Amino acid sequence: MAEAGTVDERLARVVRNIAANMVAEVCSAYLLRGDELELYATEGLNPDAVHKTRLKVGEGLVGDIAAHARPLALADAQGHPQFAYKPETGEEVYHSLLGVPILRDNRVIGVLVVQNQTRRQYADEEVEALETIAMVLAEMVASGQLSGGEDLVAASRASTMPFRADGRTLSEGLAIGVAVLHEPRIHVEKTMADDIPYEKQRLDAAVTSMRDQVNKMLETPDSDIVGESRDILETYKMFAHDTGWLSKLHQAVESGLTAEAAVQRVQGETRHRMQAITDPYLRERLADLDDLANRLLLHLTGKPQHTAAENLPENAILLARAMGPAELLDYDRRKLQGVILEEGSSMSHVAIVARALSIPVLGGVAGVIAKVEPGDTIVVDGDHAQVFVRPVPDVVAAFHQSVGLRKARLAKYAAQREDPAITADGTKVAMLVNAGLLIDLSHLDETNADGIGLYRTELQFMVRPTLPKAEAQTAIYRRVIEHAGDRPVVFRTLDIGGDKVLPYLVKYPEENPAMGWRAIRLTLDRPALLKVQLRALLEAAAGRSLYVMFPMIAEVDEFRRARKLLDREVQRLVNLRKPVPLKVQVGSMLEVPALAWQLPALLPLVDFISVGSNDLMQFMFAADRGNTKLADRYDPLSPAMLSFLHWVVQQCHAVGKPITMCGEMGSRPLEAMALLGLGFRRLSMPANAIGPVKEMLRSLSVPQLAEYMSKLYSSPEHSVRGPLEEFARENGVIV
Ligand code: PEP
Ligand code: MG
Repeated sequence: MAEAGTVDERLARVVRNIAANMVAEVCSAYLLRGDELELYATEGLNPDAVHKTRLKVGEGLVGDIAAHARPLALADAQGHPQFAYKPETGEEVYHSLLGVPILRDNRVIGVLVVQNQTRRQYADEEVEALETIAMVLAEMVASGQLSGGEDLVAASRASTMPFRADGRTLSEGLAIGVAVLHEPRIHVEKTMADDIPYEKQRLDAAVTSMRDQVNKMLETPDSDIVGESRDILETYKMFAHDTGWLSKLHQAVESGLTAEAAVQRVQGETRHRMQAITDPYLRERLADLDDLANRLLLHLTGKPQHTAAENLPENAILLARAMGPAELLDYDRRKLQGVILEEGSSMSHVAIVARALSIPVLGGVAGVIAKVEPGDTIVVDGDHAQVFVRPVPDVVAAFHQSVGLRKARLAKYAAQREDPAITADGTKVAMLVNAGLLIDLSHLDETNADGIGLYRTELQFMVRPTLPKAEAQTAIYRRVIEHAGDRPVVFRTLDIGGDKVLPYLVKYPEENPAMGWRAIRLTLDRPALLKVQLRALLEAAAGRSLYVMFPMIAEVDEFRRARKLLDREVQRLVNLRKPVPLKVQVGSMLEVPALAWQLPALLPLVDFISVGSNDLMQFMFAADRGNTKLADRYDPLSPAMLSFLHWVVQQCHAVGKPITMCGEMGSRPLEAMALLGLGFRRLSMPANAIGPVKEMLRSLSVPQLAEYMSKLYSSPEHSVRGPLEEFARENGVIV
């Protein structure tokens, strides 16, 4: 590679050598020019195709490797659906193909391919060997050792064209700002080691200093969100001592790479593994490992930690492949306007935290980081799940307008904070918030809500690598209760299973997880889990009122069994002469339709009922709440749902038992209006819905609506949304 000659001559020699060493008939190097991969050199394909054969990124197998920045090893390449035949190359006789991306600082600048006539199964070691060669090739191209090399690197830079990309909304809202990369691009200057033992020493020293740093961070008390960030650090600590990971790094150094290049190589492998894994928990853990590799690189290159968080511009839009909640909390919330993630599901921890912080977040925006330069203007439209990069002036103007309108709306709601939640006819409505993380507590004060109507305790369990001990649980619950003061907090016991996965609980494959072993079913079968939680809740509420409810109760007997466990725990405290709560109020969630037919038997046993419309909807209509194809198929404002709820509310009121709606249905003004019309007087919702819903109810006359709705229950229509909208319009109800 170091020999003299023109670009073409030297590349031709390189590919010839690779082909010979890998016992392949073909070896070709494609380099990225603009958005096309150009055949630069080949051994084995038709030499006339050089500089003629071009593939778009994403086109054919070579384009696919570039688009996903991952290797492909295929014994039957032509049988692959992505195969694109280029007649000028004469490649039809070659059956197997192994290709790897040529990466420079994690950006694709080309693709290196070998092909064989036989249907060859390439071994993992061969993939790794080709990846190592590709790294060296990348260094040559980038350092300009190939004449014209600089041009190629420049061409591989993100384009300056505006573009729009779709994602998934993980947290709503609009933001405009400048791009900041969460992982600063670390330039690995040197790929090939001159002195392998020396590189090993450097690697070991960096691993040691990284471990020390993680330990130091673990020693520092983190007063803001104790639980969450500490647990992420514990995960880092675990990985930092993981022998599998460390021995991979050593092997990479032994193959002739510098310590930095070795870390990038192993990081690349983690990333492809991440692409193939669908289990959200495993993906999160691999993202943690990716993060740790970045930290290690920083220790090797000697660059300061967290420069992105430290030098944050006033209006930052953060871009990351994936991110943990603790990392998000490193950033100054006042400056952070929005977040874009290439990965990320709405279940991910970072999404939960971002929603609590009201930071708009889009996830699943594949490949966006490679196309963005730091400082680019970016618009995050969390309301329509889209991103605009380097937007044209019209888009910017439109967004400034939307952002302005949104801000004005929020300011208006803040100003209405003290307005009582009383309808125009004088009906008092209890407005409660849904919460689950300690950072949600501030919302209680901001919204002036009457209390927490649903505290999803499982969120605290989901952001930890191990089951929280009784004391840790007690500390969290106590903090919530103390913060709420006189305002009630309704703790829902663990609602896990289904799509809410806990890493430390064995997961059984289930065909219908939403209808599977989850929530109360799981905790009644694992009573120790529930007992510890109930004990923690009772201790935390000593001398005060405690409100507890059980999720997914399908029959009275389940409630009785759960309540018995609770009563036993109270008795235990009494026997031990330990302090107990002044009052314990116990409720049942109504999420499974069957329970509604047992209300006469259930109501005497409960202190309150809380309706979870999210689950109730899916069971009423037999329509999976997570299935996007069914997302709009059935309407909560359907005659079936409304008359069902009307019937349930009447039964509760007849015996004087409070009933709350805590599902998402109560968070949209029109739906909330219908709920008031059919009899609900208690609504619990995400904090950002309090303003709009309160504004709606203050403009509503409930008796008039109740009368209007009495005719709608028997409607044969798919939905009564239209008539309800008409009512709002004609009567000046602000929805
Ligand atoms: C519901 O199902 O409506 C509910 C409030 O519970 P979750 O959304 O946590 O399942
Ligand atoms: Mg539910």
